[in-house]
Amino acid sequence: MTPALRYGHTSTATAITFTAAAAGLAATPYWPAALALLYTAALFTWLAVRCYADHRRILLEHDWARRRALGEQPAPRDPCCRLGRASRGAAHDHRCTDLTTRHADDPRSEA
Ligand SMILES: [Zn+2]
Repeated sequence: MTPALRYGHTSTATAITFTAAAAGLAATPYWPAALALLYTAALFTWLAVRCYADHRRILLEHDWARRRALGEQPAPRDPCCRLGRASRGAAHDHRCTDLTTRHADDPRSEA
């Protein structure tokens, strides 16, 4: 279990709790509070989706590193790394799966 998966489960449980609380308040005079709870539930749902995507990416990166350690030449992932996607290929992080750019941001690297 990665921390991202744990945060994803927690966010999902929180979103369900907020949704249930909103349903409980919807038929009362406090219905405006239900709208705020629904908004918060949507925010936690979005957070859970991001955490589960982060978990899947961590598993893919670990599988890629394991296969490389075993002597295989796995193809780079698409996107090669999170920083590469965010910077549209201008920068890459130290866990980049594209070996041609992997150490470009590492100050200890001479390449
Ligand atoms: Zn990259």
